[in-house]
Amino acid sequence: MSVPRHGLLIGGEVVETENWMDVDDPATGEVIAQMAAATPADALRAVAAANAALPGWRATPPLARGALLAQLARALDEEAPRIAELIHREEGKPLGEAQAEVARANEVVHHFAAEAERLWSSHLPAGPGGLGSTVRPDPVGVVAAITPWNFPVALVVWKLAPALAAGCTLVVKPAQEAPMAAWAVCEVAQRILPPGVVNCVTGEGPPLGEALATADGVEKVAFTGSRRVAELIAGWAAPRLKHLSLELGGHGPLIALPDADVATVVDVAMTQGYANAGQVLVHRSLVADVLDGMRARLAGLTLGPMATERGLERHRMLMEDARGRAAKIEGGQDLGGRYVAPALVTGAGPGTKLVDEEPFTPVVAVMAYDEVADAVKEANRPDYGLVGYVCGQDMRRTMDVAQAVECGTVVVNGWRVVVPYAPYAGWRGSGVGAELGRPGLEAFIRWQHLRVLA
Ligand code: NAD
Repeated sequence: MSVPRHGLLIGGEVVETENWMDVDDPATGEVIAQMAAATPADALRAVAAANAALPGWRATPPLARGALLAQLARALDEEAPRIAELIHREEGKPLGEAQAEVARANEVVHHFAAEAERLWSSHLPAGPGGLGSTVRPDPVGVVAAITPWNFPVALVVWKLAPALAAGCTLVVKPAQEAPMAAWAVCEVAQRILPPGVVNCVTGEGPPLGEALATADGVEKVAFTGSRRVAELIAGWAAPRLKHLSLELGGHGPLIALPDADVATVVDVAMTQGYANAGQVLVHRSLVADVLDGMRARLAGLTLGPMATERGLERHRMLMEDARGRAAKIEGGQDLGGRYVAPALVTGAGPGTKLVDEEPFTPVVAVMAYDEVADAVKEANRPDYGLVGYVCGQDMRRTMDVAQAVECGTVVVNGWRVVVPYAPYAGWRGSGVGAELGRPGLEAFIRWQHLRVLA
């Protein structure tokens, strides 16, 4: 049976390649599409197309760029059901969550469409006749956006929308495990924007990542993914003095203070813990109630398949490691195919891999603490600092604890993390730079000072 084939998006064209790669549905193993398998030479052609488009896009007045971005946002709203379905098929994410990802991502495009109008310059007069200092924003240039499989649309859009608003052009390289939805976003952009402003190369990560991170003509690499690959990317980009942003893993610590509302703690642990990463530090007085609440919710929790084979292997390894350290595991077993049961782990602590590292599989470790200072210390111990959560009712103390958690984002009494207007940044081992918000726009800008003396 033939499946749809999608070529590379380069310079406004859809480009066929010699080699193709299968995209499979992780729920069934069925091949659902073929994507072009680009070579490093193809990636460089995309870089050349982005450079050719740069002068025109840079010179497009911010109001006009904003208007085109607004048009893109509306087109993506219209295509949202189709794009969400692609995420669901290629990645196994439950359809409702895929729809939510696309809806939130489209809000980001709307937001930066408006931000394009707000790029400002300032003039500091120092004499008559326009003498003085003008400070103006200029786009950094061509951006290579390299993204992972787990939020295949959102993490492209967080780079694409502000980069376009700032006047940059892009080459997007989605994860090979889930390239279709990201490709579809770029294809809509290619239809609306001038040729070469948004290009997309699909294919194997290592050769394309290296080609883009070392290419002359790429000024910035915006990467989201694992620490291991980030170090490679930084190793290629840094000696060439390219701008770099790195958004890496987190371990999602949740601190439940003694006066926390148990239902809220359970909600955060279930929603964020099993979706992303879950180290749950609970005051000893609440542990029994939190575990009861989680067990009740676990009974009705349905997970999609693990998106990748290496994710499945990692889950098994984490379970074995925890068992070897005498932790108690409820659930966590293989269910056939790529499916596993969510695991609730107690009795684990420092030294256990799923506590020390980002699990990135459906496991939540609940750990008891006695002193709040110890919970904060444990939350800050592993070398991650992406998102943390604090639940408590005495707001003065809760806010003090939230500020002591060394993460770029800390959510208080809930689990909704991202809004387009606030920065999302990994601190410490979770990254360099910020996406979204004003800092996420300025990340694509270089400032020029025009000092007019005569
Ligand atoms: P990954 O690092 O394996 O891959 C990320 C991207 O790099 C993909 O496009 C991949 O094709 C490419 N790549 C892979 N190997 C490469 C190599 N040797 N050289 C160059 N490029 C290469 O990550 P993943 O498994 O797709 O995603 C999971 C990771 O992403 C987790 O660690 C997760 O925490 C992280 N993540 C972070 C955030 C955030 O916002 N900070 C969000 C989502 C995911």
